[in-house]
Amino acid sequence: MRRIAIIGGGIAGVTAAYELARLARDGAAVEATLFESSSRLGGIVETIREGGFIIEGGPDGWVTEKPWARELAEELGLSEELLPSNDATRRTYILKDDRLQAIPDGMRMMVPTDLAALDESSLFTSAARQSFRDEPSRAQELKASAPATDESVADFVRRHFGPEVLHTIAAPLLSGVFGGDVATLSVRAVMAPFVAMEREHGSLITALQSRAPKNGSNAAIFTTLRSGLATLIERMVATVPPTWLRMNSNVAAIGRDETGWTVRCSGNKATPEHFDELMIATPVDIARSLLAPHDSYAAGLLKMEASSAVIIAFALPDASRFPVPSGFGFLVPPHHASTNGSEGLAAKTPSRLLAGTFTDQKFNHRVPSGARLVRAFFGGPTAERMMGCGNDEIASVARLELARILGPLPDATITVVRRWPRSLPQYSVGHLERMAELNNRVAAMPGLHLLGNGYRGVGLPDLVRDARSAARGVISS
Ligand SMILES: Cc1cc2nc3c(=O)[nH]c(=O)nc-3n(C[C@H](O)[C@H](O)[C@H](O)COP(=O)(O)OP(=O)(O)OC[C@H]3O[C@@H](n4cnc5c(N)ncnc54)[C@H](O)[C@@H]3O)c2cc1C
Repeated sequence: MRRIAIIGGGIAGVTAAYELARLARDGAAVEATLFESSSRLGGIVETIREGGFIIEGGPDGWVTEKPWARELAEELGLSEELLPSNDATRRTYILKDDRLQAIPDGMRMMVPTDLAALDESSLFTSAARQSFRDEPSRAQELKASAPATDESVADFVRRHFGPEVLHTIAAPLLSGVFGGDVATLSVRAVMAPFVAMEREHGSLITALQSRAPKNGSNAAIFTTLRSGLATLIERMVATVPPTWLRMNSNVAAIGRDETGWTVRCSGNKATPEHFDELMIATPVDIARSLLAPHDSYAAGLLKMEASSAVIIAFALPDASRFPVPSGFGFLVPPHHASTNGSEGLAAKTPSRLLAGTFTDQKFNHRVPSGARLVRAFFGGPTAERMMGCGNDEIASVARLELARILGPLPDATITVVRRWPRSLPQYSVGHLERMAELNNRVAAMPGLHLLGNGYRGVGLPDLVRDARSAARGVISS
């Protein structure tokens, strides 16, 4: 019987436990113990179901193009629950000159596929529109200027389209997802498909235009579950033997000996337990401190910036009292400075909100009939400062920021505030090389596996794929 310890019960750890339980049912001689420090499984994945509202405290869906979360949901009998985003009304706005301006149709992040649509939009100046038009004819120059090593997202976007496109669309898109800074994010880690396009075509616009539409390319851009993403966690947990789950168990130290690994939880009476293999699926900071006594160099490779995130959801009973533009929501450029005439501190300081989601318009079945659900997202240094504030204070800042952009917010029947400290690791320039080095160090410590959002992707599908493949690897090794 192979004994596996899994530390951390977010989606990565729970998926690993689920996969091991599945393999055990199929006859593999394996048993696992999942140590979770809190009293709840799911980590950042959390759904609050109240008063007919489905409120996500963390992720609200996954990118449909990546199949692994959908495959898992189908395997769990959740096909009927799969809910596509409402792409017929897909529109995202950017706050520019204190006005929400729609991202033109046909944009794939900062790359237009329909140059004519740019002329109908006021988002870009004529100079930026010209830089888009020029990009295809600069294909050879762009190929030649591509560096042999990694570069920042900012440098990559600037080379293709210039500074305005970087600040107007690329920076808000990336900070709305990673809470991060385009000047430090690695283009190879967070925009790998665009790097591949550049290598092949030089021009990103030509590359996208020459792509044959994929089968299923009409699929909605995002997918979620009708009853909320926590259902994915709940269904997986239901298949894991209850004796495998160790809640309120904070792992304080790990040890190594000739036959495997030991795990010791906090508390005076805790004694180390022995396992053959160890999966660390905690946030990177915790993984680093657990690993440090065994390989300080590997721990050093795990030193990375991480953005904190704060989510505030307002459930409003009457949508007509809070009209919002048609679409999924809006992004605020990280350095947007408000010039409107509103009173108070907020009017004098750069907007600290990174994004707002019109959840009831993005997905169906999120609210009772006629109601509205909006979500505000703060990241970076602002979220860091908010960590120490009370819920009421955080909610009132969110209210103020939303009101500045959308008009006065009526009273909410439910307000949800969630703080996720250092939850979004920043894959900075050189990330892939550091991870390759880390893999070599980990390979030298047999039986050790690092899972979670610090390594090979932050999105739910990536984490599901990674955890399942690590669990299968344990059995086949
Ligand atoms: C606000 C926000 C919105 C997001 N939106 C999306 C989205 O829409 N789509 C998408 O695909 N992704 C999204 N993401 C990213 C995605 O949600 C995360 O990358 C993912 O949920 C992380 O899962 P994880 O299992 O790696 O870590 P976590 O969810 O952080 O889980 C780690 C677990 O380890 C436990 N733990 C910590 N220390 C110990 C210890 N010493 N001993 C035992 N247990 C410990 C913690 O309690 C926690 O349960 C979002 C992230 C954030 C923060």
